Amino acid sequence: MSRDLSLLHPQLRAIVPEILAECAAQDLPVLITQTFRTQAEQDALYAKGRTEPGQIVTNVRYPNSAHCWGVAMDFCRNVPGREYDDSDGFFEKVADIARPYGLTWGGDWKNFADKPHLELSSFMPGSSTAWLIRCYGTPQNFIASWKEEDMIRYQKIEDVPAAFLPTVRKLMERGILLGDGNENLAARIIDLSEDMVRILVYLDRAGVFDAGQDTHN
Ligand SMILES: [Zn+2]
Repeated sequence: MSRDLSLLHPQLRAIVPEILAECAAQDLPVLITQTFRTQAEQDALYAKGRTEPGQIVTNVRYPNSAHCWGVAMDFCRNVPGREYDDSDGFFEKVADIARPYGLTWGGDWKNFADKPHLELSSFMPGSSTAWLIRCYGTPQNFIASWKEEDMIRYQKIEDVPAAFLPTVRKLMERGILLGDGNENLAARIIDLSEDMVRILVYLDRAGVFDAGQDTHN
């Protein structure tokens, strides 16, 4: 089981440090015990108390846990020997801090209360993975969708790879790609994503930007 925060959805990753800081300020020492779960890990957890010894610890099979989608985390008290001691309402106090950040607390669930569990409410409507499955199919597809921030962008013509350059230069010279309006083409900010440039190149190959050129010349 991983407790690696970098495996969490960027939204959750972004709020964890703030939640931990608020908890620390209120003398609530929190330890993150679990974040992302692979299929093998979820399968092993589901087997506990069923086909394997021990008590039942989960009601859901892969991929029906928010942990398999990187939108949940489990926590305990960061005090050795008192990790799950809730005599002072520790878990609900942490939940009170976490809720305004858009998290659902497992301790609020009626059928299977899970006090160490927090998940991003927006991705888990009704505390179900049904929405994620409908929109993304698999956790792999969902995780791939997080990578948008790593998308390649070209700010100026000098950033554009040689294979795309003839199209980009042509569109700039013809006044189709105006960017920030700078007359100096080398300095013009175009800020185009790689996907967008690829589409322009396909359209150029199809002759879209050359239509009408000959008849007017
Ligand atoms: Zn959990």
